[in-house]
Amino acid sequence: MTATTTVAADQLFEQAQTVLAAGVSAGMRVNPYLGKPLFIERGEGAYLYDIDGRRLIDFNMSNGAALLGHDHPAVKEAVQHGVELGIICAAETPFHEQLAARMVEIIPAAERVRFSSVGTEATVVALRVARAATGRSRYLKFDGHFHGLAEQWLFKRADPFDQSSPIVPSSDGVPGHLANDIVMVPWNDADAFERAMKEHGDELAAVICEPIHYNAGCIPPAPGFLDLLRERTNDHGVVLIFDEVLSGFRTSTGGVSATYGVTPDLTTHAKALANGLPLSSISGRADLMAELAPTGGAAHSGTYSGHLLSVLAALATLEILTAPGAYDEINARADRFYGQMQDVFDRNGIPVTVQGKGARFGIYFGRTEPVTTWTDAFHHDHAMNRAFVQQCWERGVTFHGYTKAGPPGHAGFSLAHTDADLDESLNVFDAVAANLAAGRM
Ligand code: PMP
Repeated sequence: MTATTTVAADQLFEQAQTVLAAGVSAGMRVNPYLGKPLFIERGEGAYLYDIDGRRLIDFNMSNGAALLGHDHPAVKEAVQHGVELGIICAAETPFHEQLAARMVEIIPAAERVRFSSVGTEATVVALRVARAATGRSRYLKFDGHFHGLAEQWLFKRADPFDQSSPIVPSSDGVPGHLANDIVMVPWNDADAFERAMKEHGDELAAVICEPIHYNAGCIPPAPGFLDLLRERTNDHGVVLIFDEVLSGFRTSTGGVSATYGVTPDLTTHAKALANGLPLSSISGRADLMAELAPTGGAAHSGTYSGHLLSVLAALATLEILTAPGAYDEINARADRFYGQMQDVFDRNGIPVTVQGKGARFGIYFGRTEPVTTWTDAFHHDHAMNRAFVQQCWERGVTFHGYTKAGPPGHAGFSLAHTDADLDESLNVFDAVAANLAAGRM
């Protein structure tokens, strides 16, 4: 890597570490492959401009929040409107009702909506609603599915490859006894799920999943798997939660639920909902949503819940995403781009599987077989992934990395990525792939 091109960033990171914990405002913001965060001056469309004056084609897009692109004019105008209205929070406005009505129209599970601020809050509250409604406390989650960094979700198998190993905290500071509430099974393993439901179904408040496991790159549900979740949760009176914080609006306006025709009881959204402004939602069956205070006894409130700037941004975002043909274009572009990317790697003779659905994708280096489970996703070539991310970055294309071990992160394009941007990126991938094939890592 050419250190001379990142003088300002290197200096700032050094300085930042003297005042910000670990130099960042979010742990995952340090790109493990670059050893530092991106320091950004501004974003525009498909591009980030860093403080060293470099233009980067962005395939992280604010961890998936900026589906329309950075600095979208309609979103900006909506936020400016909110500023003129007085930067109101902690109050209801007619816009909240309008946004909820729109979501009830387009999201299959949504009969009622409650807004919140971030995805983690939404998944925690969804579980609380399920527990309140069922009077049960245990819940089933899938290996490696990410639902935010709250106590409930910070657990993993001690040995991810051994299903008989204990469920343990994945973070310091999380009490181990909370694992007693969790039943954990591998994604796409129908037999393991059937066994778990037979044994524990009547004790469970909820089954929660990422209906497409994008946090491990992109692992779609096996044919019939979401239907199986729906059937067994119905059989045992368990609340089915689709966490669409990342998958929402990626494949269709109605999310993965609409794409696969399986409707959960509750669903959570954030990220693309407000195109970069902090907004999340819990939505679902009216009777379940009535568990929330003040109609019910399940607590949820917050000073910033449904912040007006975010609500206005979401109205503008959904206006664009619900335009006729929007998803025909997103999905056609996705299929074309992922196919071209796969061709680039194949042509250069490096073993890679590109898996994508809708506007988000994962690249599995060192793999030629489809990746269908989280543990499968572990078996990718980290050294090659690292070299790819570093060398793309040197050539002006940026991917985020989330961890040094485990599955690769997720990537995605936005509606602002033009064919020219994608072609430019493919040329970069080609040059980098040739390097990797020649062992220049
Ligand atoms: N659920 C899923 C599926 C996510 O991808 C994320 C964020 N990556 C979250 C929940 C947590 O959202 P937030 O970062 O807004 O708290």
